[in-house]
Amino acid sequence: QKLGIALVGLGQYSEGQLGPALKDTDHCYLAGIVTGTPAKIDKWRRSYDIPEGNVYNYENFDTIADNPDIDIVYVVLPNAMHAEYTIRALQAGKHVICEKPMAVTVEDCDRMIAAAKEAGKLLSIGYRLHFEPHNIEMMRFGQEKRMGAITHIMAENGMNGTEGWRLDKALAGGGPLMDVGIYCVQAARYTTGMEPIAVTAEEGTKTDPETFKEVEESLTWQMEFPGGVTALCKTSYSESMNLLRAEAEHGWAKLEPAYPYSGIQGETSEGEMDCEGVNQQALQMDDFAIAIKENRPTPVPGEMGRQDVKILQAIYKAMETGQRVEV
Ligand code: NAD
Repeated sequence: QKLGIALVGLGQYSEGQLGPALKDTDHCYLAGIVTGTPAKIDKWRRSYDIPEGNVYNYENFDTIADNPDIDIVYVVLPNAMHAEYTIRALQAGKHVICEKPMAVTVEDCDRMIAAAKEAGKLLSIGYRLHFEPHNIEMMRFGQEKRMGAITHIMAENGMNGTEGWRLDKALAGGGPLMDVGIYCVQAARYTTGMEPIAVTAEEGTKTDPETFKEVEESLTWQMEFPGGVTALCKTSYSESMNLLRAEAEHGWAKLEPAYPYSGIQGETSEGEMDCEGVNQQALQMDDFAIAIKENRPTPVPGEMGRQDVKILQAIYKAMETGQRVEV
């Protein structure tokens, strides 16, 4: 039997990716929606055949506790709202998938993890690339030392232009680092299979200080891993870039683009990577549903999200102080 998912926040990612992916899943389906915008309700109800009783707003959200159709709540709101809605959903007795970044502070992550423990429910972060074959190949390349130990990582993720809450520090928690730079932190961690010891960072010059009055426009940072392994990373809201490259003792591997929803391309020093394209979000949500059914942990748990937020905070501290900051 398929588990029912309720999406909280019907913005671009829900509408463009998660909703459609839930038509491709075998172990879960879109059972409900939570929205503050009544005008969106009709279209979503018609597209996904959602009964009226499974439509919630932010005020009556907690009564979702009484709805047996909803097994999983998926929080797809601006970053600073993740903690509140994740905790409320867990307290309502639901399993939760929360989008990245997990929260805007480590303290919020701790409260979310504690709420999941308290409720005895699973908490997962929307790290779709853990289910994507090229990125899985990079994990193997590094962690299984396919061409020897990793010596250096380059990771870049940026786009040209953004708007709305992503420029608002209170809602986003920061600029492109919180939004897309987090993929580089993730990539460096899953390619090396190690945790960074310390970071240094330098904010890029603001070419548009008016737009970027609250958050960084671009940022370059370095992560130091055990054994002298380093990662050099870049993120930006004014430059498109999308790269993951790993240097190893006897060769290299590269994804470019590395992080999009589709069209990822991979190559190693021995030739092209032969990986298939998949529906990442469908695989990610199905894996979570199976984890619940089988009573096993999720490979992308709250603890993984917390570690990223901890690293992001260290990077911002390094950026602000100009100092090397231990993680
Ligand atoms: P969006 O702006 O398109 O949607 C945000 C939704 O939140 C909207 O429906 C909006 O109405 C609602 N909302 C509720 N309260 C709000 C408030 N106070 N201010 C602004 N909006 C409010 O954003 P999105 O691109 O869908 O991103 C949502 C979350 O999903 C973010 O945390 C983002 O990092 C994450 N995301 C993840 C991926 C991924 O690949 N995993 C991709 C895109 C977005």
